[in-house]
Amino acid sequence: MSETMKENADEEDIGKPTEKTCTECIKPAVFYLKGRYLCRRCFEGINKESILDEAKRIIEGVKRSDYGDPKEFSKYLAQLWNVYLQGKEIEPKDTSCMLILLKIARQKNKHKRDNIVDIAGYAAVLAMVEDEE
Ligand SMILES: [Zn+2]
Repeated sequence: MSETMKENADEEDIGKPTEKTCTECIKPAVFYLKGRYLCRRCFEGINKESILDEAKRIIEGVKRSDYGDPKEFSKYLAQLWNVYLQGKEIEPKDTSCMLILLKIARQKNKHKRDNIVDIAGYAAVLAMVEDEE
Protein backbone atom coordinates (compact mmCIF):
# COMPACT_ATOMS: atom_id res chain seq x y z
CA MET A 1 0.00 0.00 0.00
CA SER A 2 1.46 3.39 -0.95
CA GLU A 3 1.56 6.29 1.48
CA THR A 4 -1.44 7.98 -0.12
CA MET A 5 -3.56 4.89 0.50
CA LYS A 6 -5.45 5.18 3.75
CA GLU A 7 -8.63 3.88 5.28
CA ASN A 8 -9.74 7.42 6.01
CA ALA A 9 -9.01 9.97 3.33
CA ASP A 10 -7.64 13.42 4.06
CA GLU A 11 -8.34 16.31 1.71
CA GLU A 12 -4.63 16.53 0.84
CA ASP A 13 -4.64 12.91 -0.33
CA ILE A 14 -7.35 13.50 -2.87
CA GLY A 15 -6.16 13.62 -6.43
CA LYS A 16 -2.69 12.10 -5.92
CA PRO A 17 -2.28 9.45 -8.62
CA THR A 18 -0.76 6.07 -7.75
CA GLU A 19 0.43 3.09 -9.72
CA LYS A 20 -2.78 1.26 -8.83
CA THR A 21 -6.02 1.53 -10.75
CA CYS A 22 -9.46 1.75 -9.22
CA THR A 23 -11.02 -1.66 -8.73
CA GLU A 24 -14.41 -0.20 -9.65
CA CYS A 25 -13.36 1.62 -12.84
CA ILE A 26 -10.13 2.24 -14.80
CA LYS A 27 -9.11 5.57 -13.22
CA PRO A 28 -5.96 5.88 -11.07
CA ALA A 29 -6.65 4.83 -7.49
CA VAL A 30 -6.25 7.38 -4.71
CA PHE A 31 -7.64 5.46 -1.73
CA TYR A 32 -7.46 1.98 -0.33
CA LEU A 33 -10.58 0.88 1.48
CA LYS A 34 -11.46 -2.59 2.78
CA GLY A 35 -9.35 -4.44 0.22
CA ARG A 36 -10.29 -2.21 -2.71
CA TYR A 37 -8.26 0.44 -4.53
CA LEU A 38 -10.53 3.34 -5.37
CA CYS A 39 -10.44 6.52 -7.42
CA ARG A 40 -11.83 9.68 -5.81
CA ARG A 41 -15.22 9.38 -7.48
CA CYS A 42 -15.74 5.72 -6.50
CA PHE A 43 -14.42 6.36 -2.96
CA GLU A 44 -16.88 9.21 -2.44
CA GLY A 45 -19.70 7.18 -3.94
CA ILE A 46 -19.02 4.29 -1.56
CA ASN A 47 -18.49 6.52 1.48
CA LYS A 48 -21.46 8.76 0.88
CA GLU A 49 -24.53 8.07 2.98
CA SER A 50 -27.60 7.84 0.77
CA ILE A 51 -30.31 10.47 1.17
CA LEU A 52 -32.72 7.80 2.37
CA ASP A 53 -30.23 6.45 4.91
CA GLU A 54 -29.52 9.97 6.20
CA ALA A 55 -33.24 10.76 6.47
CA LYS A 56 -33.86 7.46 8.28
CA ARG A 57 -31.02 8.17 10.74
CA ILE A 58 -32.29 11.69 11.42
CA ILE A 59 -35.92 10.63 11.87
CA GLU A 60 -35.01 7.76 14.19
CA GLY A 61 -32.41 9.66 16.19
CA VAL A 62 -32.00 13.38 16.58
CA LYS A 63 -35.46 14.43 15.41
CA ARG A 64 -37.24 12.05 17.73
CA SER A 65 -35.34 13.29 20.78
CA ASP A 66 -35.69 16.96 19.82
CA TYR A 67 -39.24 17.04 18.55
CA GLY A 68 -40.87 14.06 20.21
CA ASP A 69 -42.76 11.31 18.47
CA PRO A 70 -43.04 12.17 14.72
CA LYS A 71 -46.71 11.12 14.66
CA GLU A 72 -47.64 13.27 17.66
CA PHE A 73 -45.52 16.15 16.37
CA SER A 74 -47.21 16.08 12.95
CA LYS A 75 -50.64 15.91 14.58
CA TYR A 76 -49.88 18.96 16.72
CA LEU A 77 -48.39 20.90 13.79
CA ALA A 78 -51.46 20.10 11.67
CA GLN A 79 -53.64 21.55 14.44
CA LEU A 80 -51.53 24.73 14.57
CA TRP A 81 -51.62 25.14 10.78
CA ASN A 82 -55.37 24.48 10.58
CA VAL A 83 -56.04 27.11 13.23
CA TYR A 84 -53.83 29.55 11.34
CA LEU A 85 -55.26 28.82 7.88
CA GLN A 86 -58.96 28.49 8.82
CA GLY A 87 -59.61 27.01 5.39
CA LYS A 88 -58.04 29.83 3.35
CA GLU A 89 -55.63 29.47 0.42
CA ILE A 90 -51.92 29.86 1.26
CA GLU A 91 -50.34 33.20 0.22
CA PRO A 92 -46.58 33.98 0.12
CA LYS A 93 -46.70 35.73 3.50
CA ASP A 94 -48.31 32.62 5.01
CA THR A 95 -45.26 30.45 4.30
CA SER A 96 -43.12 32.35 6.85
CA CYS A 97 -45.90 32.28 9.43
CA MET A 98 -46.41 28.54 8.96
CA LEU A 99 -42.69 27.87 9.21
CA ILE A 100 -42.62 29.93 12.42
CA LEU A 101 -45.45 27.72 13.70
CA LEU A 102 -43.35 24.67 12.77
CA LYS A 103 -40.51 26.06 14.87
CA ILE A 104 -42.92 26.80 17.73
CA ALA A 105 -44.12 23.18 17.59
CA ARG A 106 -40.50 21.99 17.81
CA GLN A 107 -39.69 24.45 20.60
CA LYS A 108 -42.73 23.29 22.57
CA ASN A 109 -41.21 19.81 22.80
CA LYS A 110 -37.64 20.85 23.54
CA HIS A 111 -35.74 24.12 23.72
CA LYS A 112 -33.17 24.55 20.99
CA ARG A 113 -31.41 27.81 20.15
CA ASP A 114 -31.77 26.96 16.45
CA ASN A 115 -35.56 27.15 16.79
CA ILE A 116 -35.41 30.70 18.11
CA VAL A 117 -32.84 31.76 15.52
CA ASP A 118 -35.02 30.28 12.75
CA ILE A 119 -38.14 32.00 14.12
CA ALA A 120 -36.26 35.33 13.97
CA GLY A 121 -35.06 34.48 10.46
CA TYR A 122 -38.55 33.65 9.20
CA ALA A 123 -39.86 36.82 10.86
CA ALA A 124 -37.26 38.79 8.85
CA VAL A 125 -38.38 37.05 5.65
CA LEU A 126 -42.00 37.82 6.54
CA ALA A 127 -41.10 41.51 6.94
CA MET A 128 -39.50 41.50 3.48
CA VAL A 129 -42.50 39.80 1.91
CA GLU A 130 -44.93 42.22 3.56
CA ASP A 131 -42.93 45.26 2.39
CA GLU A 132 -43.20 44.03 -1.21
CA GLU A 133 -46.95 43.63 -1.05
ZN1 LIG B 1 -13.23 4.41 -9.76
